[in-house]
Amino acid sequence: MKIYFFKKNSSSLQSLFVGVFFIIALSFASALSQDKSTVNQIIGSAYTDIRSYDFLQRLCDEAGGRLAGSPENEKGISILLEELNKIGVQAKLEKFTINSWKRGDDLVELVSPSNKKLRASALGYSPKAAEFIAELVYLNSGTENDFSSISSRNKICLVSQETPKGVEQQFRCEVIERAVKAGARAVLFINHKNGGLTLCGTATFNGKEIGVPAFSLTYEEGNWLKRLLEKKKEVKVKIISNSQSFEAETANIVTTFKGQSEKKIVVGAHFDSWDLSQGTVDNGYGTAILFDIARLINQFSQKNYYTIELVWFNAEELGLFGSKEYAEKHENEVIAMINMDMTGSPTGFNTMGYEEFIPFFEQLRDDLKGFNFKEGINTVPWVNSDHAPFMLKGIPSFTLNAYLEKDMYHYYHDFGDTFDKADPRILADASAIITVMTLKLANYSDFYFKKQSKEEIIEFFKKYNLDKRLKRQKDWDFED
Ligand SMILES: [Zn+2]
Repeated sequence: MKIYFFKKNSSSLQSLFVGVFFIIALSFASALSQDKSTVNQIIGSAYTDIRSYDFLQRLCDEAGGRLAGSPENEKGISILLEELNKIGVQAKLEKFTINSWKRGDDLVELVSPSNKKLRASALGYSPKAAEFIAELVYLNSGTENDFSSISSRNKICLVSQETPKGVEQQFRCEVIERAVKAGARAVLFINHKNGGLTLCGTATFNGKEIGVPAFSLTYEEGNWLKRLLEKKKEVKVKIISNSQSFEAETANIVTTFKGQSEKKIVVGAHFDSWDLSQGTVDNGYGTAILFDIARLINQFSQKNYYTIELVWFNAEELGLFGSKEYAEKHENEVIAMINMDMTGSPTGFNTMGYEEFIPFFEQLRDDLKGFNFKEGINTVPWVNSDHAPFMLKGIPSFTLNAYLEKDMYHYYHDFGDTFDKADPRILADASAIITVMTLKLANYSDFYFKKQSKEEIIEFFKKYNLDKRLKRQKDWDFED
């Protein structure tokens, strides 16, 4: 049994003190796991007293899409603070400054061989541009090879987002960088999903405006342009961009349940969303589940061995800026992190490559066996959400495998991610399970939580081949 909390003991008085403390700590540590009735109360209340659904409705219908730095995001923060206050939970803001971005009244219009305003969504950090008309050229998926074999100088690049078999998926930030280098005027990405949807998203992860305007087009209109080009028609497109970046103050919203130990278990969900919709599933869901987790912990188990910190991260969509800020500031306090991004009804647990936690999750699965975790426990790390900055600090991080109806993720990053898709049952499932998971982790004191050293972090990311991805999107701070 290793408890790093009680290590220095020189005098006998100190030993006695440590001993007594040790016993208290142990009783705390095992309190929750033995107290089945607390777990049962939490699970019951998650279903019968659910507050996440009504909170989510307010957030979606009264604030709306919550791009960090926007008035909608500010409004959302006041709703969150107000609703937390109603359930007796205090939260604080940890403010920080970002280069944010605002969608303007943009235009992408086909002007030759026929005329039509196209449905187009500017990508985050797409810059302002005065009206221009240019010839369109198709660049397949925009690989290095495509750009060297097809001239795009002074042209608008049309790029497919379908990844043909055997071809490596190209990130939009990489394609844009190649287009700028080649002297292109703009980039239009064809969405790989049909149904009149665009696929919004950030065009870069560094928070700086990109060199040329970049938009997502619908599958239908994008493929129409592609067919015209295949028939060797001269296709011309007019673009006006009024979108631009601006400096903004934003904040992570933090609530703390102090434990015996000051070391923290962080449970996080990104609070911001894209502006095109109400951001219900991405990530109103995580935001609302975290709200009910706060209610349940506050009501049933405020005192635990480890401190629990619930964090609504801001500016995730623009480039994980809130979690980067938090991880940088608090890395020495945090011993584990749980992230909820578009989390639905849990079907299993992902230990994200931190295999030493598999026994913990096996026990959790057995303790909650009525939930039928049909995906079981896997250990497949991934990046590009708020757990990544923690993993890059060597802090074990976990996510959940979860069920969402097709409708819910289909509209991701576009107009249809709205409150009508919300399902209270899914929210209740997630709040019940993740609250119990958090509390068990926060009382897992006979386990030695260990942060990875720099060498171990590098080795870990290389083992799972994630270093390549992070390098490609310029998020890898380690030297080779
Ligand atoms: Zn998200």
